[in-house]
Amino acid sequence: MLQAKTAVVTGGTRGIGFAIAKKLAGNGANVAVIATRAGEAADRAVAELAAAGVTAKLYLCDIRNAEAVDAAAAEILADFGSVDVLVNNAGITRDNILPGLSAEDIDDVIDVDLKGAIFVTRAFVRSMMRKRSGSIINISSVVGLMGNRGQANYAAAKAGLIGFTKTIAKEYGGRGIRCNAVAPGYIATEMTAALPEEAREQLVKSLPLGRLGDPDDVADTVLFLAGDASRYITGEVIKVDGGMYV
Ligand code: NAP
Repeated sequence: MLQAKTAVVTGGTRGIGFAIAKKLAGNGANVAVIATRAGEAADRAVAELAAAGVTAKLYLCDIRNAEAVDAAAAEILADFGSVDVLVNNAGITRDNILPGLSAEDIDDVIDVDLKGAIFVTRAFVRSMMRKRSGSIINISSVVGLMGNRGQANYAAAKAGLIGFTKTIAKEYGGRGIRCNAVAPGYIATEMTAALPEEAREQLVKSLPLGRLGDPDDVADTVLFLAGDASRYITGEVIKVDGGMYV
């Protein structure tokens, strides 16, 4: 389905990003993964992607740094020729009630979750324009739609990402580039592992579909948005949340 296409996935070494990269690779896409940490775990992740019979490569880059992003993008474009799918997935949380959030907590989350996605998209959009095709998928969160106590910085960044998504959809639709957002609910990854057992049980009870999300639940939606099956969809936000926010 994505044979001979190239996908870039930020934060593709673990969690939801890895599930996305694996799904795209499993459907034939060559994958460039962006993350900040090298090491055995990252190497293992990239080897697992390549096992699908595609080209997979890790690019170390802190997406908070616009110059580093431009340099990584230039390297990716030199290695792969062009990019067809961009998944802005990298994200962090620094949770606290508002008075407890330091200026650094606020900057870090907005710099990675919002500005990072803008920098990365800016670095690849010209190449997509030249090809007159592309699918950009931004991983937001239901929290960006509904708000959440203790996540003012994160909710603001994820809501910002939705405004960004709609703008890119309008700005580049005429060039054959689509841009959509996915808003996951509560997905079991390292990011959410800290939730105490009791709160987890409470949350599961409140979910219409009665279970936490799996990274693959998100990856399947990204695969749909990446490919031709979603060719007439742009500027959309798809919740993958088991009914958490209905
Ligand atoms: P995760 O397991 O913590 O993984 C985060 C990924 O982002 C890692 O690969 C990490 O790589 C990368 N990353 C972090 N900071 C980076 C930076 N400055 N530059 C480049 N890469 C960076 O997170 P996750 O749970 O899979 O979440 C993935 C995305 O889904 C995030 O945007 C998150 O906000 C969103 N989301 C998650 C949930 C959930 O319940 N888990 C719900 C809604 C939305 P390094 O460690 O190598 O930097």
